[in-house]
Formats: sequence, C-alpha cells, structure tokens
Amino acid sequence: MSLAFVCKGRPASFGTCGRALPRRGFCTLADRVRRASYNSRMAQSFERSFDVCIRGAGIVGRTLALLLARERLSVALVDTAGSRAPSHSDVRAYAMNTASRTLLESVRSWPDPEHATAVLQMQVHGDQGGAVTFDAGRQHAEAMAWIVDVPALERRLADATRFQPLVDVVKEPVAAPLTVVCEGRASSSRAEFGVEFDVTPYGQTAIATRLRCERPHSQIARQWFTADGSILAFLPLEGDQGNSVAVVWSIPHDQAQHWLQSDDAPFVQKLQELSEYSLGTLESIAPRASWPLQQAQARRWCGDMATADGHRQHWALAGDAAHTVHPLAGQGLNIGLGDVAALARILGERQGWRSVGDMRLLRQYERERKSALLPLGATMDALQQLFARRESPLQTLRNWGMRGFEMSGPFKEWVARQAMGLQPPPRP
Ligand SMILES: Cc1cc2nc3c(=O)[nH]c(=O)nc-3n(C[C@H](O)[C@H](O)[C@H](O)COP(=O)(O)OP(=O)(O)OC[C@H]3O[C@@H](n4cnc5c(N)ncnc54)[C@H](O)[C@@H]3O)c2cc1C
Repeated sequence: MSLAFVCKGRPASFGTCGRALPRRGFCTLADRVRRASYNSRMAQSFERSFDVCIRGAGIVGRTLALLLARERLSVALVDTAGSRAPSHSDVRAYAMNTASRTLLESVRSWPDPEHATAVLQMQVHGDQGGAVTFDAGRQHAEAMAWIVDVPALERRLADATRFQPLVDVVKEPVAAPLTVVCEGRASSSRAEFGVEFDVTPYGQTAIATRLRCERPHSQIARQWFTADGSILAFLPLEGDQGNSVAVVWSIPHDQAQHWLQSDDAPFVQKLQELSEYSLGTLESIAPRASWPLQQAQARRWCGDMATADGHRQHWALAGDAAHTVHPLAGQGLNIGLGDVAALARILGERQGWRSVGDMRLLRQYERERKSALLPLGATMDALQQLFARRESPLQTLRNWGMRGFEMSGPFKEWVARQAMGLQPPPRP
C-alpha cells in the first residue's frame, strides 16, 4: 500500500496533542498518524455500546459508575454540568457511616483525614434537660461517623471516574440495556418514566453554613432539639484538632427568610444561645445556603418502557431520585450509597446469561432497598414530628422519652449500630 502525503476532505480538527490538523495539502507523517488516531477515537466513541447508562453525576451516580466498572461493566455517566469542576460553594459536610466509608474506600474515593473528621461522640439534647449520648468506644468502633467535606468528596470521585477507562462521561443519555437514574430529588427522568413521587413536606427549611468556634470541637457532633421546634446540628470539621463546625439548622419556613437575610451578628448570637455556648463564642466563616425539607419516596424503583424504535428500556432509581429523608439523623446519602452498593452487588452476582436489565434482578434490588429504608425513614419521620410540636405535654413526654432511651441499654446500642451501618456487636 502506498503512503499518500496529501490529506483531503474534512475541516481542521484537533488531534491528541491539541494542535490543529491541516485542512488539505501537504501533511507530515506525524500529522497523518495524529489524524488516523483521531478518526479511530471518534469512530470508537460513535460505535461504543454501553452496559449501563447512569443519569446524574452526583455522589451516588459517580459511586455507582465506579462500582459497576469494577464488575467489568461499561458505563456511560450522564453529566449535564459538563467538565466543570465540582462546586466549591456547597457549605455542607455529610455525616457518613462506616458502611459508606468502606464503600468509598473500595473505589479509592475517601477524602484525606483533614476532610473527613472522625466523630468520637454524639450528643443529642432535648429542650427540657433530656439528653442522649452515643459513644464510639461503647460500640467497639473507631468512630460513630465521619464528617466529610462535600466538595472534597466530589473532587475525589471526579478524579476516580476520570481515570476509570470503563466509565465514559457523556452529555446526553445513551441507549443501554439498563438506565439507572441518580438525578436527585427533582429528577426529570423519574417523571419521564411515569413514576409517582409521594412527597410529604415538613414545612421546614434547613439552613447550612460553617462557624469558627472559640473552643475545639473535641470530635463531638452536637444536636439540639429546641423548644421552638427547630433542630440545630454542629458537625466537627478539619480533623481532630479542629475548631470549626458545619451547621445544619432546620427551622419553620416562616422564620427561614429572616435568618437567611439577617446580618452575621444576630444570626451567630442566636446560634450561640441555642447551642448553650458549649463551644464558646462563634464566628461565621461561610455563606448561608438553604434547602426545603421533605420526606419522599418513589412508588416504583424499577421498571421498563417501550422506546420509539420498538425496544424495551429497563430502568432503576437510586439515591435521592428514589427517596429523601429529613437530614436530622444525617442518613440521606448513606441510604443512597446503600442503594448503589446493593445494585452493583446484584448485577455483579447475576448468572452469565441474564442481562443487566433483567427485571428479576431489578425487582430484587427494589425489594431489598425498600425494606432497608422503611425503619430508618419511619424513625426519622417520627422524631421530626415529635420535636416539631410545641405543646407542653409533648415537650415533657419527649424529654422523658430521651431519658428513658438513654438508659435503655441494648435498644440504644441497636439504634446506634443501625445508624452507624454496622453489623450486630461482637459477642463478649
Ligand atoms: C442540609 C442537608 C444536610 C444533609 N446532611 C446529610 C448528612 O449529614 N448525611 C447524609 O448521609 N446525607 C445528608 N443529606 C442528604 C444528601 O444531601 C443527599 O442524600 C445526597 O446528596 C443525594 O445524592 P444524589 O447523588 O442521589 O443526589 P444529588 O446530590 O441531588 O445529585 C444529583 C446529580 O444529578 C444531576 N442531575 C439532575 N438532573 C439531571 C438530569 N436530568 N440529567 C443529568 N443529570 C442530572 C445534578 O446536577 C446532580 O449532579 C443532607 C441533605 C441536606 C439538604
């Protein structure tokens, strides 16, 4: 075969080194090699078929992509935000349990210790002296939870997916035997698949921000259920020596606008009072952001539907697209990661002849995860309802209940281990 040194036809394009290829006329051998490589990559990307299409590149979607790639499945990850760097503006930090940590470590995405502060104790305070304390030592655990900086976790996941050859980040959904929807609570694909989402609004807004504290946090996560029905959480940040906290303050909608717009001084003063000055004087170090709070669950978590070309499209929901819970127990993302761990396990263990879109597998996933969500969702809903009420008999009852729970021994240990994502305690 003769080597022609004349390149014809296509408009100037960019090869691997980013230099424009000549439109026509004389080309060097290097130009021709670059063009051949470019054309071959384009052909591959057009012809590439995928096992799974994941819609939504949040924490749940990216974790699923990495888990499926580990099962040797090829994944198209739909990221409508494009190649933009993960947001640095999310002031939240998530309480993540042992199961989530183990899962994220297994896909090399657990953040460094300064971005994942171990919680040694959790203190929950009622409004009339009731209190419950959970201690990592009593659970024979390294930590009750880790408080993870959201942008740091997003960066680790973005890096891990970038270096995983079986994951392609795409801008539009692609055809695949299975589509998994991880688009969060306002998912449009869920609506496209005709799934009803049963929403119970709490009439509350969560305000999140960060504070610098006069005293070190001592790796204690603190929460106050206050007499006016609000819930305030201080989550320790910046490692074991840190003295800053991530704040989540859940308050009735009608108060939220006032506190979102108020100056720092009265806002901080209010939080100092609600937190009983337990960390001394406080200083605001981040803007305030807000989320309306709701409990919600999709009626169906999997299904199939006919496509325009006569095929059937199989789909499943995961993460906030399937369910949302009140952040008071810091469980929403932990549950979402439980979803994708279960889905990846079920797909990885399937018999060789079954497709990843096999409805039997998807129904098994739905049954397993709905039953795992039931006790957690019900407990958080009951707690929220109990503490949102301002009637005095209920105030007394809940503080009495907290004291009783504090002394309940095995029941308290069981609740703690559920929230920590741990197995039953070792036998003495
Ligand atoms: C104030 C607050 C505090 C919380 N604290 C905790 C905590 O301490 N611990 C905990 O476990 N959980 C916590 N949560 C819950 C947690 O935030 C969620 O459970 C978690 O973010 C859900 O992740 P996700 O990936 O399912 O959804 P999201 O984080 O909503 O991500 C969805 C992604 O999909 C993308 N997307 C949306 N639509 C489309 C589309 N049509 N096509 C393609 N992409 C799309 C979005 O851009 C986004 O990237 C808290 C929630 C709140 C509000």
